[in-house]
Amino acid sequence: MAVPKKKVSKSRRNMRRAHHALKAPGYVECSNCGEMKRPHHVCGACGHYDGREVTATAAETA
Ligand SMILES: [Zn+2]
Repeated sequence: MAVPKKKVSKSRRNMRRAHHALKAPGYVECSNCGEMKRPHHVCGACGHYDGREVTATAAETA
């Protein structure tokens, strides 16, 4: 339910916002090339996912 802005103290407002901080995203090592990548994402360096190549990389197309 909406509460008038003036009715919420700075303390209460700041306590609510104490949970708003952003967390750094997790990273894992690519099992193919060892680069750091986001979990459950295709590796940006070698284009591998789940042990096989799924995207063409610049090295192969050139
Ligand atoms: Zn990789």
